[in-house]
Amino acid sequence: MPRPRVYRAEGVVLRRRNLGEADSILTVFSLGEGKFDAIARGVRKARSRMRGHLEPLTRSRLLLARGRTLDVFTQAETISAHRRLREDLAASAEALCCLELVDRFTGEREPLPELYALLVAALEALDAGGGPLAARHFEQGLLSLLGYEPRIDACALCEGRLPEEETLLSPTAGGLVCRPCRPRAGGGRAVSVTVVKLLRFARRVDAETFAALRAGPAEAEELRAAIAELVRYHLDREPNARRFAEGVGALDRLAARGRFP
Ligand SMILES: [Zn+2]
Repeated sequence: MPRPRVYRAEGVVLRRRNLGEADSILTVFSLGEGKFDAIARGVRKARSRMRGHLEPLTRSRLLLARGRTLDVFTQAETISAHRRLREDLAASAEALCCLELVDRFTGEREPLPELYALLVAALEALDAGGGPLAARHFEQGLLSLLGYEPRIDACALCEGRLPEEETLLSPTAGGLVCRPCRPRAGGGRAVSVTVVKLLRFARRVDAETFAALRAGPAEAEELRAAIAELVRYHLDREPNARRFAEGVGALDRLAARGRFP
């Protein structure tokens, strides 16, 4: 039986690039189809009806027609516009990082419904003012869903018990490493007892619960750096949006010190 010419999808727009005078190619991460590119015709014209429903960060219900090379959006309807994410620079930077990680870690038309649910939850939590911990929850969840979960319940090398102390987190070894195993861990970064607890807690709770934790700025930053190192190791390069988020974070810190207008 031939595949139907039109199909429905629900997805989050990851990015958009221009095509010709008025069209765009959008990369969408969808619930049922995974990541795909499709063309939005005339979407850059002011009177386009689909325009507002196909912005990056927007979660939409989509109708698509199969094309010879790329499929074409025929209808789009917003489920969630994530308005706060557009108005709050720090929140939008965190959300864009989440989108970029999905884009870089996933292949075309590879359905990953659990990762989709995790992304939707992270965007909701960030939109509700959840702050950076919502993004950390997403990053850790993404690593574990894609098979890169670090071993954090015991030593990644000898499986021995980890005492409650500053512990080495080694991407090469695949997780936390006990003191005697450190010489063969292949590098990493020492993480505090609090960050070890945060890493463990993130696995057990949803984004909303994790985002509601009160972590101090130093701990939040340490957690960010620890997960960023794991992400970098598995991605083999620094995501672009991450550098943007770090830039925004630096601006915020300057503003907090009154050194930024
Ligand atoms: Zn060990």
